[in-house]
Amino acid sequence: MATVAFIGLGNMGGPMAANLVKAGHSVRGFDLLPQNLEMARTNGIGIASNAVEACAQAEFVITMLPAGSHVLSVYEEIAPAANKGSLFIDCSTIDVVSARTAHAIAARHGHLSLDAPVSGGTAGAAAGTLTFMVGGSAEAFQRGEAILAPMAGKIVHCGADGTGQAAKICNNMILGISMIAVSEAFILAEKLGLSHQALFDVTSTSSGQCWSLTSYCPVPGPVPSSPANRDYKPGFATALMLKDLKLAQEAARTAGAATPLGVHAKEIYEQFESRGHGGEDFSAIVKYLRQADL
Ligand code: NAD
Repeated sequence: MATVAFIGLGNMGGPMAANLVKAGHSVRGFDLLPQNLEMARTNGIGIASNAVEACAQAEFVITMLPAGSHVLSVYEEIAPAANKGSLFIDCSTIDVVSARTAHAIAARHGHLSLDAPVSGGTAGAAAGTLTFMVGGSAEAFQRGEAILAPMAGKIVHCGADGTGQAAKICNNMILGISMIAVSEAFILAEKLGLSHQALFDVTSTSSGQCWSLTSYCPVPGPVPSSPANRDYKPGFATALMLKDLKLAQEAARTAGAATPLGVHAKEIYEQFESRGHGGEDFSAIVKYLRQADL
């Protein structure tokens, strides 16, 4: 059994911390929102009155926060106060530059650290089946793997500091682009008199096959579990997809990588969000493309 501090007990952090408690770990948490603290308390998480207090005696410090600025300000606050030698693990999805800065803050105060963003959404967080993409030293990964296990379906060590975040934004850039590609194909098929089911039956076993088609089909019918069958209730909200596409573009600019389809996908989701659809599942982009005069 380990002692864990968990900062950020929102939609993802709350159920992730609850799974650590279920696995027998002692978890102390903190969040700015009283309702999230209350929910955490009912799941067996000890409540601290601030982030520094949550870290007292912790061997592992896990953060699950909205963006890079939140992670850096929490790290500046807790790194000097946390137990020397505790392992810092940031599971938030943040930009690569901030992730590397967070590693540097931890190191300055004598802590090993990992960037460990996840995919799998709130359902995966509740079920303990998240995929963790982990960046950091081999020593840090070796120490952190077991504490991630009760929250994980799969854990991949991607390489040095920041490579977990790099894997996350590269994956989600593929996802954002491929969802637009699949949506465009369905819209073209509609105009050509080809039914959704017939297109699905052909492409799901042909070279157009991809996750956006066979697991998350943007039109209702062919994949009963996809959000299209429940009026595009997320799932994975458009606003979160847009956040990740922006992070990918930030990284591409910094690294000097050409990602023309990534640029265009970000612009298309930006337009969809600005028309008030940020809360709908990102596969609802098919509705926008159907109407759009792009
Ligand atoms: P959320 O807004 O529900 O949770 C974030 C929590 O952080 C909030 O409860 C907020 O009060 C808390 N917080 C902010 N600043 C704080 C501070 N200084 N101290 C303590 N608590 C603070 O968001 P979420 O959906 O849980 O997402 C968290 C992270 O996970 C994000 O980076 C997101 O991109 C990523 N993510 C989300 C999903 C998803 O499906 N929701 C999937 C994969 C990754």
